[in-house]
Amino acid sequence: MHPDTRMVHIEAPAPATSSPLAVPIYQTSSFAFDDPELIADGLNGPDGGYTYSRFSNPTVRALENAVADLEGGAAAIATSSGMGAISLLLHSLLSTGDHVIAQRDVYGGTHAQLRDLENRFGIEVTRIDGLDPAELRAAVTPRTKVLYLETVANPTGHISDLPALAPVAREAGVLTVVDNTFATPIFCRPIEHGADIVVHSATKFLGGHSDVTGGLAVFADRAHYEQVWEHAVEFGTTADPFAAWLIIRGLHTLGLRMERHAANVTRVAGRLATHPAVDRVTCPQPGAAAHITGFPGAFCFDLAGGHDAGVRLMSRLRVIRAAASLGSTQSLILHPASTTHRQLTTEQLTESHLSPGTIRIAVGIEHPDDLLADLEQALDFVTR
Ligand SMILES: *Cc1c(COP(=O)(O)O)cnc(C)c1O
Repeated sequence: MHPDTRMVHIEAPAPATSSPLAVPIYQTSSFAFDDPELIADGLNGPDGGYTYSRFSNPTVRALENAVADLEGGAAAIATSSGMGAISLLLHSLLSTGDHVIAQRDVYGGTHAQLRDLENRFGIEVTRIDGLDPAELRAAVTPRTKVLYLETVANPTGHISDLPALAPVAREAGVLTVVDNTFATPIFCRPIEHGADIVVHSATKFLGGHSDVTGGLAVFADRAHYEQVWEHAVEFGTTADPFAAWLIIRGLHTLGLRMERHAANVTRVAGRLATHPAVDRVTCPQPGAAAHITGFPGAFCFDLAGGHDAGVRLMSRLRVIRAAASLGSTQSLILHPASTTHRQLTTEQLTESHLSPGTIRIAVGIEHPDDLLADLEQALDFVTR
């Protein structure tokens, strides 16, 4: 054959007596078949082999299996972002006329998604604090399909009482969905506490290096997995193989990183709590909830100097970088009142459990002394 043709048909040799130590990146949109009769199998369900990467891909499946294992679930679906997993779930599990009960403090994107379901899709949403089973019991109606919680809420750090709420939901035939992005399966495994489905922004701690956007939905049982998989194929929220590979690489060190994040949070939160420029530190304490076994790596504190102090602090930090994310090896800081929440009035900030001087810090894995020195010089500048 001609070089043009030969160069189009390059094939990887299948290793005969060994296998790759690292998960290979199957950067392919499609799979070719010697027996064309088998093509349809991979399109019929999640376990029919690999046909087309929007349906399934071996690198993506390696990630899905790893996180399902980590969370103690039956199966998982990897998505192109955390919001991809959340919108996939809500749009798969809910229809017009259904009712959702959601924790009041949820991630901004999730909040917007729930508002959209209310305004455009005729789905009723009731918001609860997520701390009291009686509050949940009172909110349940015959149309309630989903209870939506965050293990540790972003950004307020509020811990929902999953072990108390999940049995109430189960008894009422309501599915419990938990966003476990902040706690990670290292510090909490929601399925062990009654959750039916767990979601992650893998962009945060699972990926862990600020170099990939991705998400996961983990299912306690196969039936819901298969139901949602059909929609994932339909919506096209599928993860890309290279993104999946980066998250797999992040997972190798998840345990080590979470240990260091937690140790650094203890040091940083402890110093902030005694600094005169700081009014209040909202950091979940160890032992605050029996189902969460470690400090999540991100929390809030309030500067006494309000809005101006927030702007001054952000401009003065050098090691800790100003960025609207968290869960990275690098320490990141955000002043919501001048960035993500700048449209809100002081009253609206209070409703979101924030103040004009609230700072969210996501503590990275740097040496703690360097983080403390950076914070110290910036806080001194703020109080000057
Ligand atoms: C970031 C985040 C999301 C959204 O994830 P993306 O990957 O940015 O789409 C959802 N939930 C929580 C708690 C988050 O922190």
